Amino acid sequence: METPGNLFVVAAPSGAGKSSLVKALRSFDARVYPSVSHTTRAPRGQEKHGREYYFASDAEFDSMVGNDAFVEWANVHGKRYGTSKKGIQDRLAKGEDVLLEIDYQGALQVRTAFPQAILIFILPPSWEELRSRLENRGEDAPEVIELRMKNAEEEMAQVGKFDFVIINELFESALFDLKAIIHSQRLKYASQLRLRSDVFESLNLS
Ligand code: 5GP
Repeated sequence: METPGNLFVVAAPSGAGKSSLVKALRSFDARVYPSVSHTTRAPRGQEKHGREYYFASDAEFDSMVGNDAFVEWANVHGKRYGTSKKGIQDRLAKGEDVLLEIDYQGALQVRTAFPQAILIFILPPSWEELRSRLENRGEDAPEVIELRMKNAEEEMAQVGKFDFVIINELFESALFDLKAIIHSQRLKYASQLRLRSDVFESLNLS
């Protein structure tokens, strides 16, 4: 589906720094709307329904799948996660930019529904660094870290299917790269024509 708004999709193995980068981006760029996904996993810590996720029961999720309510959904680490059509279609149609922070399976499904989506993959600089970040987070038991490292192999093997790759070695530099990708999309002719119609009109170009 062609839309005036840009659809950015960010995927990465866990520990690559995806959430921190997206969070930092949002503090600089209020024009990019982060989509809130549905998930069957339980809330963690301070997470609130409707803010980090819409927390759904298996039956609720099944019913959304049955009603074709998702742009994409996938099983990630044993729980289901999905992006609802309702949450993003109206914004994109209005010309707003939407960012999805989802896993690679979902990212590749989004490409089918929205061929113009911009797929961004975040890589860690090395296996050693990925492991040390997962260990230093102190969130996961050793067997969970092993599982995440193993899953990361499968996830990172998909990098060639993405449009852009950010290597998150230095946080500030990776954030600069993410901002640059977003900025460059907004400089495309169709975006400029829509966002700066005043200039095009005054130059008799519209
Ligand atoms: P977490 O449970 O740690 O918040 O997320 C686990 C993984 O699920 C992360 O890689 C996250 O990006 C991914 N995820 C979150 N929302 C969605 C979604 O709507 N669809 C898909 N496919 N993955 C998602």
